[in-house]
Amino acid sequence: MSTVQMPTVRTPSTHMPGTQMKALRKMRPGPGAALDSVPIPDIGANDVLVRVRTASICGTDLHIYEWNPWSASRIRPPMTFGHEFCGTVERIGNEVTGIALGDFVTAEMHVACGRCRQCRVGQSHVCQHLNILGIDQDGCFAEFVRIPAGNIWKIDPAIPEHYGAIFDPLGNAVHAALSGEIAGQTVAVTGCGPIGLMSIAVAKACGASAIFATEVNPQRRAMAVTMGAEEALDPAADDVVGRVRAATGGAGVDVLLEMSGNPQAIQKGLAMLRSGGRASLLGIPSEPVTLDLVGSVITKGVTVHGIFGRRMFQTWVQMTALLKERRLNLDPLFHERMPLDRFAEAFSLLQGGHAGKVILCPNGSPR
Ligand code: NAD
Ligand code: ZN
Repeated sequence: MSTVQMPTVRTPSTHMPGTQMKALRKMRPGPGAALDSVPIPDIGANDVLVRVRTASICGTDLHIYEWNPWSASRIRPPMTFGHEFCGTVERIGNEVTGIALGDFVTAEMHVACGRCRQCRVGQSHVCQHLNILGIDQDGCFAEFVRIPAGNIWKIDPAIPEHYGAIFDPLGNAVHAALSGEIAGQTVAVTGCGPIGLMSIAVAKACGASAIFATEVNPQRRAMAVTMGAEEALDPAADDVVGRVRAATGGAGVDVLLEMSGNPQAIQKGLAMLRSGGRASLLGIPSEPVTLDLVGSVITKGVTVHGIFGRRMFQTWVQMTALLKERRLNLDPLFHERMPLDRFAEAFSLLQGGHAGKVILCPNGSPR
């Protein structure tokens, strides 16, 4: 009997990469980042190597870049950051099935253990041993990124290519908006960064009857209306709670999507929620928040949902359906595409409060 030795990885013969790649890395604790040349990651039997086409910058990446207290406590340099991307499959581990070389993919960057209690009961988005690529391990601001095959998501060919890099934040928005009833509901969205703006589009596409946004940045308020909000209110100038209550016959909204993490926005958001309503809290406050639990949650019989990451993979199925059927127009959210070496310019745009997604192209600009 002859035995055939299988290769450990499959790789396309046409455009075999060298051994080194360009990566945007946090080299040491402290502000900033640097472009570095590092080895292309080796892949294991159950991994996939993806050639990154586009990567978008998330607020978390900005925190890592600026080195806020959270980053200082969590990130262990040297490390390649970035976790929103799309690209094509370049190499496939020997035990991987259902993924082909050249497939256009993105990935769920929260890697769950698959063994803990939550994972076993279908709640792997809150896995006990979650490992986040781009935060705990090397991410996608590089020419190539290694992804466990189980986390790869093939992008439906009916979805416009430029949406490929934003499944991660869109998934946050979809998870929050669809964690309870939304059709026919009145909705308040507090905080209109990219995720808040996407949640407005999602709520609208899924039949919300009216959406009220609050946001301190005027450019982002204008975007909120473009995405489908009835009204975008300035919490610094308007009586946002009074205005939303008045617009909902005195009751308050059915649903609160809290997308800012700002303590006042959370308090006001809960105040504009009707008794018996649903609050989905996604924004991450930098410090513990004081709340009037009696007046704003308990006696109002409110349901509070903590929203973390994306449901694996229910949220991905929902996003695919919404994007494929062209129910979401997220085009106004896209800003510039830049090569990876213009990262400093890209980060300074975001530091200036730009509302759109800035896209980096580690392998040169696609078509
Ligand atoms: P972002 O910082 O761009 O957006 C937050 C927005 O809230 C900003 O536009 C800001 O101007 C606005 N804001 C600040 N104070 C406000 C106030 N008092 N009232 C109304 N709006 C106010 O961030 P993003 O990328 O859109 O993410 C939104 C939030 O979600 C952030 O807190 C982020 O850390 C968090 N986040 C959570 C998850 C999760 O899984 N739970 C995942 C990603 C991001
Ligand atoms: Zn787990």
